[in-house]
Amino acid sequence: MFAPISEIFDSVQGEGPYVGVRQAFVRFVGCNLNCSYCDTPREDVGHCRFENNAGSGSFEEFQNPLTVNMVEELLEHFKHIHSISLTGGEPLLHADFISQMRTSVPLYLESNMTLPQKAKKIKGRISYVSGDVKLTDEFEGEDFESHLDRTIECFRVLKTTKIRDCFCKIVVTNETDPDDVLGVVGAISNYISCVVLQPVTQGATTKPAPVQSLMELQKNLLDEIDTRIIPQTHKMWGCL
Ligand code: SF4
Repeated sequence: MFAPISEIFDSVQGEGPYVGVRQAFVRFVGCNLNCSYCDTPREDVGHCRFENNAGSGSFEEFQNPLTVNMVEELLEHFKHIHSISLTGGEPLLHADFISQMRTSVPLYLESNMTLPQKAKKIKGRISYVSGDVKLTDEFEGEDFESHLDRTIECFRVLKTTKIRDCFCKIVVTNETDPDDVLGVVGAISNYISCVVLQPVTQGATTKPAPVQSLMELQKNLLDEIDTRIIPQTHKMWGCL
């Protein structure tokens, strides 16, 4: 079994309720969406870069695609890690590959939550789910209702249980409609432990929502579920 992987490294989780925990990261190539604020390359450049010493900026390169065994061997280099973040791109595109990975630490899935059939293949292997909800202002592709149905189904498949924590992360821009957020959270609140509102990191084309409107949205969501506002912290201090 092979998969194209763009990078493997260890660092700290920069987003959500587990911010600051030490993790190994496996970044898969490819995504089924096209978000306006996407900051990860989605094309295979032909090799996977591997950083053995965190923060060194020194990388070895391995030709893509990688085998499961190869990924497992590279992950062995990392010590004291809380979990292995499967990220992308969209890691669920590589569900068959993930289902074959054998690791001694828990798996932490970072997903756009739009591929419920793929999610079913690996739900028993995943201990943490950082599930994004993609809203109308950032959604491109098929009709929004189908997109939303698949998102809700994906959260149902990967819901919080005694052995898995599933939380929802919503990137909020100045174009995000609070009613969209309230609607989708209402539909998945039984499946998740908390909501994280992540103000979009300001870029050339993306602007965060005003502080007051974000606070108002949090207040309304708190009527229903634990809701936190957490920006991307790794961007603040420049780590991977
Ligand atoms: S789902 Fe993630 S990786 Fe895919 S386009 Fe959106 S931000 Fe980028």
